[in-house]
Amino acid sequence: MAVNNKLSTNSYPSLSPGKYGGRIGKPAKYWRIITLGLYVKEDIGVKFKTVFLSSSILDDPRKDLLIEWGKWFVRLGLAPLSMGNLSFRTEKGFVITATGIGLEIVEEDNLTEVLGVEEGRNLPVIYVNGKVVPSRESLLHHEIYKVRPEVKVVFHLHDELVMKCVDELNLPSTIGEQPPGSEELVREVNRLLNLAKNARYLVIRGHGIISMGETLEDTGRMVVDMNQMARDYVAGKMTEG
Ligand SMILES: [Zn+2]
Repeated sequence: MAVNNKLSTNSYPSLSPGKYGGRIGKPAKYWRIITLGLYVKEDIGVKFKTVFLSSSILDDPRKDLLIEWGKWFVRLGLAPLSMGNLSFRTEKGFVITATGIGLEIVEEDNLTEVLGVEEGRNLPVIYVNGKVVPSRESLLHHEIYKVRPEVKVVFHLHDELVMKCVDELNLPSTIGEQPPGSEELVREVNRLLNLAKNARYLVIRGHGIISMGETLEDTGRMVVDMNQMARDYVAGKMTEG
């Protein structure tokens, strides 16, 4: 029996307008309701305070592309429940998707520019430009940009297939499982970044994956390629059996 394990990857989001954008159409109403539910849930997991310095964020063509990659990951099944967070480095910090807004429906107003992180009395304080609270994994993105100056783009998703095959594929991964959005998770990923100095793709055991690159394209393609590798591995296993 032929196993169709190939992803349709012939039209990646790219900076040329119209190539990918516009094809998806408006999301169905029920998505908004689901996302509203997620908003409440996700907001509870936010372990920092947000200080809004300005409601407008910088003009950058990568914002549209970031949004398109989010929709693309949902379509490929790499962002279950439309969850995940995507960012790119800017001169002053990084632009990241909002907390609690499904990647399927992220719009320009759901992007926030993180300008700095400070230790607060109880919780870390994040200074931003934008209208929405940045992803609850903003501290994780901040840490990666700090430790890896060459990284310009960070995508965090929950690729269940890759997570299942992490040991078989010999991918760099965390040792323990830490709660999403926690400082423990940030510390664990920091340890891994220092151990696997050249790694551009990491697995957070029992949670998700991190892809780090120089452009949105190479970071996104790595996510898709690693998923394909996991598919090939599983298909190979099936043929063997
Ligand atoms: Zn996550």
